[in-house]
Amino acid sequence: MSLYENTQKLINRAADTMELSEEVRKVVNEPERVLSVNFHIHRDDGKIQMVKGFRVQHNTLRGPAKGGVRFHPRVDMGEVKALAGWMTIKCAVVDIPYGGSKGGVEIDPRDLSEGELEQVTRQFTQAIAPIIGPRRDVPAPDVYTNAKIMNWIADEYHCVHPNEDDYLAVVTGKSLDNGGSLGRDSATAAGGVIVLESYLKKTGEELKGKTVAIQGFGNAGHHAARILAEKGAKIVAVTDSKGGIYVENGFDPMKAHSCKLEKGGIGECLTEAGSNGGEEKKISNEDILALECDILVLAALENQITEANVNAVKAKVVVELANGPITPEAHETLENKGTTVIPDILANAGGVTVSYYEWEQNLRHEKWTEEAVAEKLEKSQRQAFEDVDKVKDEFKTDYRNASYILALRRIESAFEEKHSGKAHGFSCMTE
Ligand code: GLU
Repeated sequence: MSLYENTQKLINRAADTMELSEEVRKVVNEPERVLSVNFHIHRDDGKIQMVKGFRVQHNTLRGPAKGGVRFHPRVDMGEVKALAGWMTIKCAVVDIPYGGSKGGVEIDPRDLSEGELEQVTRQFTQAIAPIIGPRRDVPAPDVYTNAKIMNWIADEYHCVHPNEDDYLAVVTGKSLDNGGSLGRDSATAAGGVIVLESYLKKTGEELKGKTVAIQGFGNAGHHAARILAEKGAKIVAVTDSKGGIYVENGFDPMKAHSCKLEKGGIGECLTEAGSNGGEEKKISNEDILALECDILVLAALENQITEANVNAVKAKVVVELANGPITPEAHETLENKGTTVIPDILANAGGVTVSYYEWEQNLRHEKWTEEAVAEKLEKSQRQAFEDVDKVKDEFKTDYRNASYILALRRIESAFEEKHSGKAHGFSCMTE
């Protein structure tokens, strides 16, 4: 099954539960626009390399399209379509006035020099420039892209559209000295922790003392480890793409992160992180999913928990900080065995929410304090959890389905508003 079929399956499951109108079901089942581009870069060794890229705008009923750009050697159109669809749903769950989009470039940035990376970014931006814009479609960071890459996107877009005064608002996740927002860097992780705390509070529990394993030690994963540890949770394991570590008595994730930056992989950091008495060992990316722990945070890539390994999962709560890390079939198995899944479209929505704050600051020429951003994010994620929780009770369903239902309701009202009382003539279709 393709990743986009997963997205459709989840949309249609919620559509069935809530009896969504057929028109809206059809509209959200297909992306509005898909763009596939090919460009070339000059490698440092003098060779020319062709590169493939994609940008998909899934739906813009609720506002301009919004979604990150990932650089990854295995990106393809199906994946980008799925991720764009999830952005539509995500923005509606947290009620920010955006539709959904996503971009991908089929390249391994770890193989590129800084100059080559800049070329890839600028060429890709030129290729998609006709369809992006501050009020049309706004890219952001995603897997293996960062603030520096976002700065290049803004700059290249400005080269193509020199008269666009608001060009900084064409992309979010920029550096602080270039229109970026305080708090954007850690927003995905912070938002996930807020939702997790809201959930625990509802069940009469707290984070303090909970054992946590985190798959993925990139931007989302390492900030999550830090924030969770600050709140008293015990981080017992983390992995990155090359493997990782398990320390029974828990470890300081920031020390471990500095070591990862120095040595290139968290798997090399057992001595730095551990040596505090209990069991300590190196573990694989697969082992971490089966660890005995209270909370498992998935912060790597999609399709990590599948039918093949779902039965090994022992955590009582699984938080999806990555997009789509659990297949729909594996999710059903988890729910059936009583595991609570805090779904991606709710758990990781803090990132796009603070992207929205950055966009607002750019358009209003303002600079908000870190406290103001954190306070707004806290309120927004809490509200989203409460809204989803109400729908969950209403339909007696799981958090994922409830999040989709909430989102589809909001998309349906945007659809109705757009079409209410307007007889569509064909002289002018712009609205
Ligand atoms: N890439 C992030 C996500 O999947 C953030 C998108 C954004 O900030 O627009 O939610």
